[in-house]
Amino acid sequence: MATGLQLSAQTVPAFQDARLEPIAKKVLAGERLSADDGLALYQSHDLLGVGWLANYVRERRHGNVTYFNVNRHINPTNVCVAHCRLCAFGRSPDATGAYTFALDEIWQRAAQGVAEGATEFHIVGGLHPDLPFEYYLELIRGLKQRFPQVHLKAFTMVEVGYYARISKKSIRDTLLAMKEAGVDSLPGGGAEIFHPRVRKIICDHKVSGQMWLQIARTAHEIGLRSNATMLYGHIETNEERVDHLIQLRDTQDKTHGFVAFIPLAFHPANTGLSHIPNPTGFDDLKAIACSRLLLDNFDHIKAYWIMLTPRIAQVALRFGANDLDGTVVEEKIYHDAGATTPEHMTRAELERLIRAAGRDPVERDTLYNPVDRAKMPIPPARPSSNSIDGFIPETSLTLNI
Ligand code: SF4
Repeated sequence: MATGLQLSAQTVPAFQDARLEPIAKKVLAGERLSADDGLALYQSHDLLGVGWLANYVRERRHGNVTYFNVNRHINPTNVCVAHCRLCAFGRSPDATGAYTFALDEIWQRAAQGVAEGATEFHIVGGLHPDLPFEYYLELIRGLKQRFPQVHLKAFTMVEVGYYARISKKSIRDTLLAMKEAGVDSLPGGGAEIFHPRVRKIICDHKVSGQMWLQIARTAHEIGLRSNATMLYGHIETNEERVDHLIQLRDTQDKTHGFVAFIPLAFHPANTGLSHIPNPTGFDDLKAIACSRLLLDNFDHIKAYWIMLTPRIAQVALRFGANDLDGTVVEEKIYHDAGATTPEHMTRAELERLIRAAGRDPVERDTLYNPVDRAKMPIPPARPSSNSIDGFIPETSLTLNI
């Protein structure tokens, strides 16, 4: 949806880092960047130069348009067998704060989301040792039956790999069963950093990087699109970041199934890597810009405000990002890891942030079709209910399947 901004070679700034000049020539010519180019971008301290290039690509693709959506996160359980060192969300079944929602509880939360105008449920959770695959299928069927108009973006490649294992199905059959139940697309989490050196340290017990990519390919083959992510700011090197992005780009060349890429800033608090300092604002903007420049076959780069803070996410709209993500409402995964952002932003707040950055807000659905609120009005606000505020303790788990 380009708006025809006039950008030309004459507008190229004088770079402080001379290594950006040959890269700028490629960017202006629309040529693909190499892994070496990616490394030079990551190594450069000329953040404004890198950001200018990323913004050029962003405006060439999207003009001034910046997307957001009205969504609701649902995390069915935080009980997880994987115990990744990067994670502050997963718990053992008997740990303090462990919870699993009964299906009725999920449907109540979903109903609240629909009342607030959600067009998407984003559903991810832990790898529970006892819940059968049927629980997740029933969860999806129940949502689809009750709210057929809402897009179900459910279960990361990591969860899909786990469900295949516990149900003794192939990856393809697992995905087909999910699709049949009503899953519309997959989120992009669990990719972390693909390189095995990193995975061995930060998330040794979940699917390998190669398996993550294979599951994504299989999902795309059966018509389920997905997002992709990269968790940065822990123990990874610049080379490993570039390798990650190039592997995603190669996969996208084959399947064209990725919708958006979301760089995720590592939040170390309460994780097994809590000695690592948080990524800086410089790291955040660099991650957005480098991904925009290297992922030339991804339409959308998302500045996920929950992880970045609304302020950095807003600035990222000038460093390559064209999407702020959504209203979210209830976010557990990064808040357990010390995120200090709110868990909810209203539609009006998102629009204000976007407009204040000089961009034009467009509400989208999950697949980036504009949402026409004249045809899909948001129901009038109802008095909030406290009935769904609490978690069900693991000990009172009731399975409604
Ligand atoms: S990152 Fe995901 S798989 Fe790993 S412990 Fe946390 S919830 Fe479990």
